[in-house]
Amino acid sequence: MSESRRVIVIGAGFAGLSAATQLAHQGYDVTVLEKNSLPGGRARVFREQGFVFDMGPSWYWMPDVFDDYFARFGKKPSDYYDLVRLDPSYKVIFGPGQQVDLPADMKALRALFESMEHGSAAQLDEFLRQAAYKYEVGIKKFVWKPSRKVSEFLSLKLLYDVTRLDVFQSFASHVRKFFKDPRLLQLVEFPILFLGATAEKTPAMYSLMNYAEMALGTWYPMGGMHEIVRGMVALAKEKGVKIILNQNVRHIAVEQGRASRVLTAEGTYETDIVIAGADYHHVDSQLLAEPYRNYTEGYWDKRVMAPSSLLYYVGVNKRVPRLTHHNLFFDEDFALHAEEIYENPKWPSRPLFYVSAPSKTDPSVAPEGSENLFLLIPVAPGLTDDTEAIRDKYFNLIMDRLEAYVGEAVRPHVVYKRSYAHSEFREDYNAFKGNAYGLANTLRQTALLKPALKNRKVKNLYYTGQLTVPGPGVPPSLISGLVVAKEVEKEFPLR
Ligand SMILES: Cc1cc2nc3c(=O)[nH]c(=O)nc-3n(C[C@H](O)[C@H](O)[C@H](O)COP(=O)(O)OP(=O)(O)OC[C@H]3O[C@@H](n4cnc5c(N)ncnc54)[C@H](O)[C@@H]3O)c2cc1C
Repeated sequence: MSESRRVIVIGAGFAGLSAATQLAHQGYDVTVLEKNSLPGGRARVFREQGFVFDMGPSWYWMPDVFDDYFARFGKKPSDYYDLVRLDPSYKVIFGPGQQVDLPADMKALRALFESMEHGSAAQLDEFLRQAAYKYEVGIKKFVWKPSRKVSEFLSLKLLYDVTRLDVFQSFASHVRKFFKDPRLLQLVEFPILFLGATAEKTPAMYSLMNYAEMALGTWYPMGGMHEIVRGMVALAKEKGVKIILNQNVRHIAVEQGRASRVLTAEGTYETDIVIAGADYHHVDSQLLAEPYRNYTEGYWDKRVMAPSSLLYYVGVNKRVPRLTHHNLFFDEDFALHAEEIYENPKWPSRPLFYVSAPSKTDPSVAPEGSENLFLLIPVAPGLTDDTEAIRDKYFNLIMDRLEAYVGEAVRPHVVYKRSYAHSEFREDYNAFKGNAYGLANTLRQTALLKPALKNRKVKNLYYTGQLTVPGPGVPPSLISGLVVAKEVEKEFPLR
């Protein structure tokens, strides 16, 4: 095998795994070095007392992206995991006695909208018609751009598409052209929370997320989200990728403008190409000597990060009938919570929160008669006073509201509880400011304005994952790996 085929991928998250698999499929000799004892990065899993807890992502959206991923290797998701569509897609709790279940069926969804605001069913049709176009252009074209040169975007067709994508209009003003009822506005703005910025700061183009959620549906891989990782790892190995766990990369050695060796505490790996799938800031500022960095600390300090998360993994020894699989507690003022994340970062006074109960769909993730709960509070990145006392305070604060909604005591039935926040994100993933899902998707941090996927000073060093193009989320991270693999194939073709 030719020497020039050796690729080291740092990190076995979705992006690293997808880049590695694509390159191995093309014939490169690929080794993935992962610091943790399990692959999957933010989508790892752990088991305790019969409960199986997904540690990060819980929403399986954009099933077509996963279908296309496996299809490029002649496979289907069902070769690795079984998907079910959730119905209702999710529940929103607006306040005492006020909750809605979002039906998967479009007719029922239209009826629900109409019941909240007269004329809104027809408005939803038009909103989703425009969103479908944005999804088509956004997910089929824009996310595949490596965003290295302006010229990538200079085709007439693309420029035409950009004008119809509503890139320069805010999501908030866009949705207000269609809906007035505050509950509908909350429902439609909810998927934007995944993009890490408020609706005022997010381009209207991202109504593509509404199309993904409402038209394409919310799905669940039986066994849990980690089944996707298991599938991807199995496929990577089928293609010949070597995945070496417990390898914390400490340094990337550069010689004559090329990354030549990757050093861990356990060993040294000679290489011809490096793809860094670990957090961008960590790789750039900790693994490279100063002259080779793409960005300064000043640059990073000016980035708007997506929120971090305060998480609780909770095992309950009884069923909680009033919960569904996904439950959004929108029973407090989002404007205040958003201000305490973005404008005036601090621990939130009255946070919104999210509860996933995958045991509603999947009996394998909890002992019989028990409930598996994952609770998430979005919080500002970079908070340093992340103490046990604060975690206990927020657990009780949200459990008060959860118990009030479900109408029964849950805390006395908690048989397992683990919390997770900034310090674990830093410790486990070397996450800049303890971020959970990377950079916020604001207009100023889109495409060419994101941290670049190639190092400018080291010829054979690339970056992938949620901090570079196209952005955060499982589908974009997976696509990021494929985009970077294509650049490697172009610039370092096999002889
Ligand atoms: C709580 C939470 C909820 C989320 N919910 C959803 C959701 O519902 N749906 C959705 O689509 N997305 C969701 N996301 C976002 C999604 O999980 C991420 O965008 C995606 O997993 C990022 O993948 P990645 O490959 O870029 O990075 P990562 O998953 O972080 O992978 C990077 C890997 O690099 C490794 N690494 C770091 N430093 C080193 C080093 N020095 N040496 C070796 N390895 C190293 C890390 O251990 C890690 O395995 C969520 C994220 C979080 C945290």
